[in-house]
Amino acid sequence: MSSSEVYIKKGDKNFLHTYNRFPIVLDHGKGVFLYDADGKEYLDFAAGIAVFALGYGDEIYNNALKRQIDKLIHTSNLYYNGPAVIAAEELCRVTGMDRVFFTNSGTEAIEGAIKSAFKFAYSKEPSNEYEIIAMNKSFHGRSMGALSVTGNSHYREAFGTGLGHIKFAEFNDIESVKKEITGKTCAVILETIQGEGGIYPADPGFLKELRAICDEKDILLILDEIQCGMGRSGNMFAFEEYGIRPDILTVAKALGCGVPVGAFLMTERVAEKSLSPGDHGSTYGGNPLVCAAVATVLDEFEEHEIVSHVRSLTPYLEEKLDELVSKYDIVKERRGKGFMQGLEFTVPVVDIIKECQKNGLLIISAGSNIIRFVPPLIIEKEHIDRMFEILSEAIWIHCQKI
Ligand SMILES: *Cc1c(COP(=O)(O)O)cnc(C)c1O
Repeated sequence: MSSSEVYIKKGDKNFLHTYNRFPIVLDHGKGVFLYDADGKEYLDFAAGIAVFALGYGDEIYNNALKRQIDKLIHTSNLYYNGPAVIAAEELCRVTGMDRVFFTNSGTEAIEGAIKSAFKFAYSKEPSNEYEIIAMNKSFHGRSMGALSVTGNSHYREAFGTGLGHIKFAEFNDIESVKKEITGKTCAVILETIQGEGGIYPADPGFLKELRAICDEKDILLILDEIQCGMGRSGNMFAFEEYGIRPDILTVAKALGCGVPVGAFLMTERVAEKSLSPGDHGSTYGGNPLVCAAVATVLDEFEEHEIVSHVRSLTPYLEEKLDELVSKYDIVKERRGKGFMQGLEFTVPVVDIIKECQKNGLLIISAGSNIIRFVPPLIIEKEHIDRMFEILSEAIWIHCQKI
């Protein structure tokens, strides 16, 4: 048996079976390439699900973490720590928000955002009847609160009734949102670009009108940029392109580039009437290790001009993906922004993904019929070409079979 096979056999005996993992054991990485336990090389167009923006083995990032490990890893939030102070300052600056709370994951950032919205409304007028409007096809995480605003019944149906007071509207359909608004609506939550739901960017008209309605009725706009934020869309945050700003923002995935960290942020206006001492907390949240990562990631983004790199290479990526749309009947359409792209197929894509893996390319799906492209943000033209060759051949082989 190969090393990979030994690990897979052992893992399957002990892991709770919640993931249908591909039979690949990843061992180490360099730049935009990953290597399995037997030394096979893969070009990575998944980035650990839109996480590893800077690629693998970035020296400055790795050294910053190593230094912090030797200094101090954890303190709790009973005390201040330097890396958290610096990370908070930088994150507020790049988001344009005023206050930040660090979490350990995306789903926890959503929990915090939901609690913040309820508390804001409660401070104005105490009630337990406040409602939140979420979107169909959305994905916000797996904890009970985040699940309650996730607009995909398949994720929710076995797990009770959830939060309650959550209503669902159609993404990009302002009339459907208006229909759900009542005197008790305290917030609307949505992804600026829907990820798991199939890579759907918000329409500019929809988001602008939603912002205007929220302003008029003093409803908080919560934008979930856990996946589409941090440069991936070709802006540091996807909402920038729409000329609007959320009241509450959630960030995670690429924020720490691999260490478990997320954040929810808000404007001062919200913070003044929202969570106060005793309302929320986390033992690990914002510890020195993860915050050293966040501060370094934000520095590296500026140092390497990651956002303008994404922007300058996006037309080429889009051109190559559009070529697949025109070349193959089973490729229906391309959607997305920047390095967050989706190709919708008329058939399930799992066999195409497996064929790509055989030939050294990691890509992922978003739903059964959509291939999702969320590579490290440092990819170059040559990597797009290599991806195109492998994927194009995999699609061609699949067409011969059907
Ligand atoms: C991944 C994701 C989450 C959940 O983040 P976790 O870190 O997996 O808990 C929430 N919202 C969006 C948009 C995501 O893509």
